[in-house]
Amino acid sequence: MDGNSKVPDYGILPTFVALKMYPMGEAAESLNFIEHIVEEDLKNGYSNADLRFRFPPEPNGYLHIGHASSICLNFGLGERYRAPVNLRFDDTNPAKEEQEYVDAIKRDVEWLGFKWNTERYASDYFQQLYDWAVLLIKEGKAYVDSQSSEEMAVQKGTPTEPGIDSPYRNRSIAENLEMFQGMKEGKYEEGTHVLRAKIDMASSNMLMRDPIMYRVLHKEHHRTNTDWCIYPMYDWTHGESDYIEQVSHSLCTLEFLPHRELYDWFLDQVVNADKLRPKQREFARRNLSHTVVSKRKLLQLVEQGVVKGWDDPRMPTISGMRRRGYTPESIRNFADTIGIAKRENLIDVSLLEFHVREHLNKIARRVMGVLNPVKVVITNYPEGDEEWLESENNPEDETAGTRKIPFSREIYIERQDFREEANRKFFRLKLGGEVRLKSAYIIKAESCTKDTDGNIIEIQCTYDPKSKSGSGTEESLRKVKGTLHWVSIKDAIAAEVRLYDRLFTDESPDTHKDKDFVDFVNPDSLQVITGYLEPSVKDAQIGDRVQFQRLGYFCVDSDSNNEKLVFNRTVGLRDTWAKLQNK
Ligand code: ATP
Ligand code: MG
Repeated sequence: MDGNSKVPDYGILPTFVALKMYPMGEAAESLNFIEHIVEEDLKNGYSNADLRFRFPPEPNGYLHIGHASSICLNFGLGERYRAPVNLRFDDTNPAKEEQEYVDAIKRDVEWLGFKWNTERYASDYFQQLYDWAVLLIKEGKAYVDSQSSEEMAVQKGTPTEPGIDSPYRNRSIAENLEMFQGMKEGKYEEGTHVLRAKIDMASSNMLMRDPIMYRVLHKEHHRTNTDWCIYPMYDWTHGESDYIEQVSHSLCTLEFLPHRELYDWFLDQVVNADKLRPKQREFARRNLSHTVVSKRKLLQLVEQGVVKGWDDPRMPTISGMRRRGYTPESIRNFADTIGIAKRENLIDVSLLEFHVREHLNKIARRVMGVLNPVKVVITNYPEGDEEWLESENNPEDETAGTRKIPFSREIYIERQDFREEANRKFFRLKLGGEVRLKSAYIIKAESCTKDTDGNIIEIQCTYDPKSKSGSGTEESLRKVKGTLHWVSIKDAIAAEVRLYDRLFTDESPDTHKDKDFVDFVNPDSLQVITGYLEPSVKDAQIGDRVQFQRLGYFCVDSDSNNEKLVFNRTVGLRDTWAKLQNK
């Protein structure tokens, strides 16, 4: 590979890709252990053209943050070595797989900013796998077992005791061929026969004790319809699919480590010397705190109505995070920061939030919105008057420009930004005290009005007309301790605002022996309120991301329509992760 060649055009996120690309050898210390394996192979005879990777999801649910790690790993290798990466759907279980999931997975991988070389399906290889299975039978390496799964389980033995041979283990080749064909032709009920590899019932690796290769399933498949009523098992399918696609490095999570021996055994049966032999290598599954990363468990949350769907903004799914306002860059940066590991551990979700905040700070335009309003009347501001003040859209981005915000006699500020009395550390508004209204004037609280329950319903203030921000007067430069966000009442846009909290109250909800993960669902994970926003948001489009100043990052939810804007709180401004780091 030419280390100085141009950065390829990936269409999306060129700067991010450019940052990640560096000539080989220059960043050797930053290689992860999988990259070290690849480098070693390159030294030992692989050419760069031999390299090929794949991301192999089963279309039985939506992708989650754990998958993002695997996607970034595989596609990251593709970028580093300019090697093709296939998107391969591991679709061998029609009972659980659906086209909806295929579509969602493709959307999510693309949204993350990656392009696959070719889209493949394990089901594309059903005929080839069948033909190879017939070959194995002919070589006396596979047989049809007609026992129940319970009987087979008993014979399997234990890790310390060898298994027992099935009474069908020595069926004649002719009979095996005939029965296997019968299975394929639909002559048998589900559960009556399976095809097993004839390996070693005494192997110390339980997975080598005559693993099942095929089972009968009279189910319609989302791609092959009713063409097949036998379906290959994962182990039989995965390595052979890698081989067909000539994947050089087949990366999977650690639970497949004991499967590697079987992966290799199955490959031994079919590999030609002139073709590349794929390698399975394992890395640790990524777990995120306060959530679950398992499609099965996430499906349970959807089915039980704990959340409103796979893309509920509280879900750790890619689609949920997208809807919540996370950016692909922040998810990729997060995945790159945590890297890959050889051992499982729990990553705190606040690290992910840190990356979200960091990116949104650069790109989100600032607006003012008040979520818990209390009315302020500026008594010396002429009634009926209004002026449009200029405010920066993003202090982090000079090109973002400015916008105009209306100011008038009646405004909202946050209820928690006012106290009748407070000590000197309270830099917000108190009776007799002054604050600056962001991009506007300095105001002073003179008095307040309460309802019969003692709740403050209005604050009367005066303003200093010469203190207008940016006007250059001495008064405009006068420093006061606090700056508050606000919104002019008559111009404010009322919007639905959805505030999210952790979906689970426990850090690792699915690791408790005595409790189900669903028991830890946070009953207060969603709070819906009305917010009052400056009028510049009126044209906001679904997916737009903004910072509500002093509050956090928000994005326009897909439930918005012409009548009503709905915002999701993506993440608050407070950096809890940095706090944890500094402890
Ligand atoms: P789930 O239990 O959520 O269904 P899975 O591993 O069965 O996960 P697949 O669709 O088979 O899901 O996974 C596709 C790829 O993503 C596999 O290579 C798998 O190892 C990887 N992967 C899945 N979950 C994680 C995770 N939490 N961290 C890292 N990689 C993961
Ligand atoms: Mg799976």
